[in-house]
Parts: sequence; C-alpha cells; structure tokens
Amino acid sequence: MSIRRCAIYARISVSAEESVSIARQLEATRQYAASRGWQVVAEFTDDGVSASRNKPEDRAGWRALLDSPEQYDAVIVWKIDRLARKVLDFLHAHEALRDRKAGIVAVEDPVDMTTAQGRAFATLLAVFGEMEAEATRARVKAARRFLVMTGRVPGGTLAYGWRSVPNPDGPGLVLAQDPHHIGFVRGAVERIQRGHSIYSTVQWLDEVGAPLPSASQKSRKRDGWSYTTVERLLRNPVLAGMTAYNPGNTTQTRGEDVLRDSETGLPVVDESIAIMTVSEWRTMVKSLDERDSAQALPRALRSTTSPLLSGLVSCGHCRDDSDEPVRMHRGTTQGRPGYSCRSCYQTITKFEDYVIEEFLRQKGERVRWSLVREVHEGAAAMLPEIEHRLSELTAQLQSTDDEEEADRITGQISNLRSMRREARGAAPVVVQRAVRHTRTFGEDWAEATTPAEQRAVLDDALQSVVVVRGRVGRGLDRNRLSFHWNSPEDLGPIEAPDDETLARWAEG
Ligand SMILES: [Zn+2]
Repeated sequence: MSIRRCAIYARISVSAEESVSIARQLEATRQYAASRGWQVVAEFTDDGVSASRNKPEDRAGWRALLDSPEQYDAVIVWKIDRLARKVLDFLHAHEALRDRKAGIVAVEDPVDMTTAQGRAFATLLAVFGEMEAEATRARVKAARRFLVMTGRVPGGTLAYGWRSVPNPDGPGLVLAQDPHHIGFVRGAVERIQRGHSIYSTVQWLDEVGAPLPSASQKSRKRDGWSYTTVERLLRNPVLAGMTAYNPGNTTQTRGEDVLRDSETGLPVVDESIAIMTVSEWRTMVKSLDERDSAQALPRALRSTTSPLLSGLVSCGHCRDDSDEPVRMHRGTTQGRPGYSCRSCYQTITKFEDYVIEEFLRQKGERVRWSLVREVHEGAAAMLPEIEHRLSELTAQLQSTDDEEEADRITGQISNLRSMRREARGAAPVVVQRAVRHTRTFGEDWAEATTPAEQRAVLDDALQSVVVVRGRVGRGLDRNRLSFHWNSPEDLGPIEAPDDETLARWAEG
C-alpha cells in the first residue's frame, strides 16, 4: 500500500498517569508524517475519555474521523492505546478503516496496519492492550481502596451529618463532621440509646427543626423527616467512623459490610469522624433490629401517649434476665394513656403529674448536675469487635472449599488471636464524672418548653420509677411508686459548693 495522505488521531484520557497532552501527541504524529513525506489532511481529537471504558466508535472525534469526506490511506496515532485497549475494540477500529482502504500506524509502538507484518503483530499487541486494561481496572480498585483507607472521600453520597473538606495532610478531600447537622445526629442517637422509638425520633427531628437531608428535600412528598431516612441514618457505619464498603459490589445499593484491614479483617475506624464507638453502634443497630419485630404489638400498646417518662418506668414485681426490674411500656388502658407490664399485666395511669411534683420537691432547689460517662478504652475497646470478627471468620472457614481462602482465613484468625491476648491485658477504664451546671433543676425545668428539653432535665435526676400494685379506685395510690435518683443525695447540693470543694471534684 503506497501512502501519500494521512489523518491524525489523538486522545487524552481522564487518568493523570497518562498525562501526555494532546498537543504533544499531535506534534509527534505530525513529525512522523513529515519524516515519511506524508501529507496530513485532517486531525481528530478526543478529550477525557478512558480507553478502557469507551469503545472507539463511542467517541465523537473517532466517529468524525470515520465519517470525514477527506481521503486518507493511513491514520497515525501516537501510541496504540490512544485508540483502544481491548482486542475487539482495536479490531473493530481496524476493520472500519479497512473499509475506507486505510490502515493504522502508531508512532511509539511498532504497529503499521498498512503492512501484512504489521497486521499480524497488531493482533498480538492488542492482546497486551487487553492485559493493560485489566491492570488499569485493578489500579482503579486499589486507588479507591487507598482513598477509603486514608480517609479521603472516594465520591458518592455523603451521610447526613458529614461533609467532605480539603485534606489538611495532602491532596484530595477527607470526610469530616458537618457542624450544622452533626448535633441532630447525636441527638437522634441519644434518643434511640435511651429507648425511644424511631417514630418519636422522627417527631423530635421535626420539632427541633433539623434541616432535611438534601436528597429527601428533592423527592419528599410531605414536609418533614421520614421513618426510612432516620433509620438509614442510624444504621450508617459512619456513625462509628467506619466506611460502608463492598469491593465487587457493582450495584448502587449500600451493602452491609464495612471497609476492613486486609491483615486482620477488623474494620478500619477513623475516630476523628466518629460520634460513637463501634460496639456502641453495633448495640444500637441490634436494638433497632429487635424493635422491628416489636412493631407487631397490639394496637393499644402502640398508641401515642406523652413520651416524657418513656423508658423510665419499671415493674416492681418482675425481673429480667439480668435481675433488673422489667421495663413497663407506654400504652392505653381502658382509653387512658399509661404504662403496663408485659409480664404481669399491671397497669398504671395518670401518674406523670405526681412524678414531676416529686421530682421538683426532691431535686428542684438543687443545682443541676449531669453525669457524664467517660470510657478510656485503649486496646480493650477492640475486644467486642475482635470477638465478632473471629466468629464470622470461623463460620467462613467451615463453609469454604477453597484451600487458598482457607489459608487466608486461618492467617487472619491467628492475627486476631494474638490481638485478643494483647487487648485482654488492657482493661478499659470507665470514669463517671459529674458536670455541674450553673442553675438548679427547678430553674431548668421551668424554662424547658418541649418534651425533649423536659426529658433532658429529668434524665439528669431520675434513674427510674418503680411501680407496684396498690389500691384500686379513684385517684393515684402514691404508695405504688418509688423513685430512684441518678446520683447520691450529696450530689447537687442546695448551696453552691465552695472553691475548695470544687477543686477537689475537679481533681477526682
Ligand atoms: Zn410486672
């Protein structure tokens, strides 16, 4: 084939590693044409398309080249991977040009499809192109995993309460708490941990005016938070600093697994973005799982009453597995809102006013204190997670038939066992610290306007109200109730403590 006229094709892909600019490709191909005395009749380019993802015929520049009215005998590319990385894609391009009686010529690769030798060699080269595309896919996967491992945001939807910010330690973006929203997430978590339902948490988010997530703002049919949005938020592993991650999961739905360390299989946790520990999060998710089945309760027990004492009322006759009084549940008895025991069926109604009266009588004049539980966990914090992962791996080991996988799992189990030995040596230190407010319980109660605010004040004082059977009849038998306060009676004195006492508390 004698060549006199040629066309040039140049392409740049999105990935930075192939940063040979279009200008450089054009320069090299023009020089190549000039050195052979060929006339360049047209130049075609494509921007920002990855060869491993797009067929040549899907690219505007390549299509224009094929449709061009210009006559040419050869198409010059800088390297063959500018054109295609798959055998079939390359051969399709080759056939399309052959119909126009033209062949592909590469500057940097020994490919000249205008000769018989070239055509034979090009097929071989295309095989390597295919291998390279496979390697690119592996690199993309590895890069994504690296981004996730180092906390940089790999794209996708951000959870409510988190945002991406410029990485202070390098390029890219990192996940960080969103100061405008994170408080609402914390509030929702605290409510669930205290035993509130998801429904009441939805109500609470509406009451306190939490801004809606942007996704549900677009698609919402009614004003306000939805049950599914709140439940999805609470189940998101990002709450414990983990990353939902499913290699190989090509669907858009969020999977159940989280990103794990490849040596031990333990979750990768970024504590700087977490609002709770991994075991706290697991406990909460487990409680949500259990509550799903509790929705099958009789209608009477599900009816809404004031949530003020929800989770604080216990039965004095019944004990649970841990020998604690069984919690009584909100419901309606003969049309009146109240609480009932699901073990012995005793009920109590119209007692909330008395509980408040007693709270204000016993605690109202006292300076308010909040008890803050601080857990200094160290390595022991990992123990529940290690146990959890060990049981998962043991099950996997039993079910696998693959020798290599069995070896890998055995290796992980061995690593975990040695971590467990270390972690057991370091017990967590739990410090319960009392934080003193500046005002009395009574003052804060008087200013609390919503049930949520009232409950927050009450929670600092009241641990539980235990109910026993008593006189039946009109009005409340006050002897049925006993009060269990959160703190010893000397905590929260009527007079403010002197400086010396305060200093002693601060130390200890
Ligand atoms: Zn009972």
